[in-house]
Amino acid sequence: MFDGFIGLVRDIYKTEAFIPLHEPRFVGNEKQYLSNVINSTFVSSVGPYVAEFEHKIADYCGAKHAIATVNGTAALHVALLLAGVKAGEEVITQALTFVATCNAIHYCGAEPVFVDVDGSTLGLSPQALANFLDEFGERRDDGLWNRLSGKRIAAVLPMHTFGHPCDMKGLMAVCQHHGLPLVEDAAEALGSLCTLSPDDAGEENVTKHCGTFGKLGVLSFNGNKIITTGGGGMILTDDAELARQAKHLTTTAKLAHAWRFAHDQVGFNYRMPNLNAALGLAQLEQLPAFVERKRALADRYLGWAEANGVQMIKEPNGAQANYWLNTLLLDDALQRDAFLEFSNAQGVMTRPLWELMPDLPMYRNCRTDGLRQSRWLADRLVNIPSSVVF
Ligand SMILES: *Cc1c(COP(=O)(O)O)cnc(C)c1O
Repeated sequence: MFDGFIGLVRDIYKTEAFIPLHEPRFVGNEKQYLSNVINSTFVSSVGPYVAEFEHKIADYCGAKHAIATVNGTAALHVALLLAGVKAGEEVITQALTFVATCNAIHYCGAEPVFVDVDGSTLGLSPQALANFLDEFGERRDDGLWNRLSGKRIAAVLPMHTFGHPCDMKGLMAVCQHHGLPLVEDAAEALGSLCTLSPDDAGEENVTKHCGTFGKLGVLSFNGNKIITTGGGGMILTDDAELARQAKHLTTTAKLAHAWRFAHDQVGFNYRMPNLNAALGLAQLEQLPAFVERKRALADRYLGWAEANGVQMIKEPNGAQANYWLNTLLLDDALQRDAFLEFSNAQGVMTRPLWELMPDLPMYRNCRTDGLRQSRWLADRLVNIPSSVVF
């Protein structure tokens, strides 16, 4: 199986050289737009490309508003603040995620609480969330409190792992029941769609882009994501007032005025520079083609996996994944380590899952629900080369 895998990847990428996990593709108007920006001298935080990029991302995702930021972590930080997360409170998220999800919670002075994921989505499990809230949630006048810690639970923050949408219908139902705001970490899920199938026949299915189900959603345009601005992020929301506050908070909370420098709160310098937005616009033009190519690549891997008795993570029912990173599910940690050793030694880059968040020293003392499924998956998942192939 291992030899067959190396042969397959070399055949896909048509090279005997090192094959990285994910590299960006600049095959459109990137150089032209970047050169326009340099010629205009507006390379920094003022310039027309930022607003254009925001509008086009909002359009693409079907969000009413999009606010560009310097990176996805900054976008998460501000989205959580705007969802009402305050110091001393808790945010429920998954242990199976990239550290930025957790760090953003910590920047708010809040603490993450880790609830298990589903094996079918790799995202926060509605059932595990409901179990946790039913057991420990206590409804008070000012919200939902954690009986165990004595802290207010301020928000729920699911993450769409490797571009596979979480069960948003299930998560929205649990959050609604408990009166909790949802913020989506859709950093890996640009181009991924999720369908809310109604229970009653006759109603229409609602298919929406990841990041547009919650009160706020967040995208990342880091160099390894499906499209890149070098570094960058975006806050999505349908709420005009939250959008206004997001813009204000991420741009030093400066009051609009012809020459006065006045600020009405402690804001952040989280602006996306015009230079990065130009790169983003050129990349966004290619996004539909990238998603199509990535789905075709996933099909090729899936065909191989099925023929060879290897398990691969498929897009969940009722969802359309961007297949940002393709993921194999191996038999156990032993086979996983052997696979990682072998493939990397052969010059084909493969990677295990992130260390689960409560296994990192900073988050060791955070509460969890036991994370049975997360731990099982963490022993078995590996990412395989997933750059767009033309
Ligand atoms: C990439 C990523 C982010 C944001 O990362 P930035 O590098 O700050 O843009 C956040 N969460 C997840 C799950 C990610 O993969």
